[in-house]
Amino acid sequence: GGHRLATAFAAKVWHVETDCLFCKIVAKEIPATIVYETERTLAFRDINPQAPTHVLVIPKGHYRDAAALAAADDGLADEVIKTAHAVAVQEGVHESGYRLVFNTGPGAGQTVFHVHAHVLGGRDLGWPPG
Ligand code: 5GP
Repeated sequence: GGHRLATAFAAKVWHVETDCLFCKIVAKEIPATIVYETERTLAFRDINPQAPTHVLVIPKGHYRDAAALAAADDGLADEVIKTAHAVAVQEGVHESGYRLVFNTGPGAGQTVFHVHAHVLGGRDLGWPPG
C-alpha cells in the first residue's frame, strides 16, 4: 500500500456553541462570502460593510471575545492576526493602511459573541473611532 495523504482540514475539532451565528458560518449552515481560510481560522465579508474592505476574521473554535481568545494561550490569537494581515494583502489595502478592531463587550459595540477581528480598509479611517 502507498501513502495516504491527510486532507488539509480533516479531523480538526474545536468547540462549537449551539445558537452561535459564526459557529454556523464555520459549519456552512449559514452562507457567507469566505475570502481566506487556514486550518484554524476563517475570513468572510461583513454583511453590513463599513468600508470598501470589511472582512471578519474568526477562529473556527468558539471564544466569546478577544480576552477569552488571548487566554487560550495556544497561538490562536497570533494566527487570527496573521490571517487578518493576509486578508489585507489579498484585498490590496496593506500599503494604504488598514485597521483591525476587536470590539470587546457590549459597551464597546460587540454584538456577536464569537470573537472576530474586523479588517477595515480602502478608505480614509478617522481617529478616534466612533
Ligand atoms: P460586532 O458588532 O460584534 O463587533 O460585529 C459583528 C459584525 O457581524 C457586524 O459588523 C455585522 O454587520 C456582522 N454580521 C452580523 N450578522 C452577520 C451575518 O449573518 N453574516 C455576516 N457575514 N456578517 C454578519
